[in-house]
Amino acid sequence: MATQMTDGHRRFLQVLMSHGIMEGSVARTLHRDCCEIHKVYYAHDKLDDFINVVNIHVQPFFMQIRKGMSEDDGRTYYALVNLAETEITKMASDYTENELELFRKTMDVIIISESGFASSTDILNLADQLKTKKMKKKEAEQVLQNLVQDKWLSERDGEYTLHTRCIMEMEQYILSNYQDLVRKCNICHSLAIQSQVCETCGIGMHLPCAGKYFKAQTEPHCPHCNEFWPHEIPEINRPDSQLPSSALRERRRTPSSGTRRH
Ligand SMILES: [Zn+2]
Ligand SMILES: [Zn+2]
Repeated sequence: MATQMTDGHRRFLQVLMSHGIMEGSVARTLHRDCCEIHKVYYAHDKLDDFINVVNIHVQPFFMQIRKGMSEDDGRTYYALVNLAETEITKMASDYTENELELFRKTMDVIIISESGFASSTDILNLADQLKTKKMKKKEAEQVLQNLVQDKWLSERDGEYTLHTRCIMEMEQYILSNYQDLVRKCNICHSLAIQSQVCETCGIGMHLPCAGKYFKAQTEPHCPHCNEFWPHEIPEINRPDSQLPSSALRERRRTPSSGTRRH
């Protein structure tokens, strides 16, 4: 495998750097474009090799392009992560001390919760109890906006969870600092923040991993203790599927609707 860093590799790195994180299909298109523009050897299935070359060259700067999965939809993402500092201190240049404390406390709530979410009300209440310096509600709202913009948190309907990029960058930090509280997914063995948990043995699964795992089972059972899995099976989002997503949903609904049963 060629290990030479070309202008094509450099362009790929620059674009990824400006985005911080990129969805798999976007990265694949960018890979093709960078190779075309700079007349670099291109094969559509060689993105990971292409990235390995970039990684060899950014390693001395304690950077790495990592491949990870979104806990929301199971899609692949690529992110440029900083390996130099493995703690929250890497955020110190962008955030004040009490803003960092608010983020750390928010992270605690997200990780302790089984669902992997913290409500904005919970977070705004935390702002009033900061040890470093209390924060007004308005200020806290602004900090939350910044954390979302910088891809540390992501927000859905007033609920906050860790952004995919944050999980990719902080996985080791979270695993060592929340040892007894966090789970690894029983299917893909990565850190799982949003998960479904077995009520009997306590193993957890990412929602997309659970969706894939239980897809073919009419009666879902825990892969570890074999007890009945009491959660709603998540729908799996397959952007590469031939079936429109509505058809998938239709098929999934049929067994519980009872129309075919007598
Ligand atoms: Zn998983
Ligand atoms: Zn179990």
